[in-house]
Amino acid sequence: MCTVGSSAQSCSRRKLPWLTTLGRGLAMRCPFCGKSPAFDGYLRVRPMCPVCDTPLGRVPCDDAPPYITLVVVLHIVVTGAVLTERTSTMSSTMLLVIFLPLTAILALLLLRPIKGATLGVLLKVGIVRSVLSASETNGADA
Ligand SMILES: [Zn+2]
Repeated sequence: MCTVGSSAQSCSRRKLPWLTTLGRGLAMRCPFCGKSPAFDGYLRVRPMCPVCDTPLGRVPCDDAPPYITLVVVLHIVVTGAVLTERTSTMSSTMLLVIFLPLTAILALLLLRPIKGATLGVLLKVGIVRSVLSASETNGADA
């Protein structure tokens, strides 16, 4: 996996166990060292890890975390709604009152850790942008 052209830090990043990388990502920490938070805000990724200099801001998570979050949340909510509808006499309105807010709350709670895990997976397999785009450079200064 580690080739002649790859850096020593990149190689050691790839040697981390998958569960360690995923666990640190899910805990919203730097997937490489686990000592620093990976996010500056709710979903804004730090440009660099201040502890190990991993280029967290160059990992192209893009739309993967929202898609993964939707898949996870909808499996939970749809399963819960179908089981509740079949085993109780609850009205459809009551089901909506329970499961619509539950959908929003679960999505908001899971999006950040899933983005952290996505960050870890992409770092582990070595998918990192080579250069910061202009918008990311401007965003890093703010
Ligand atoms: Zn780090």
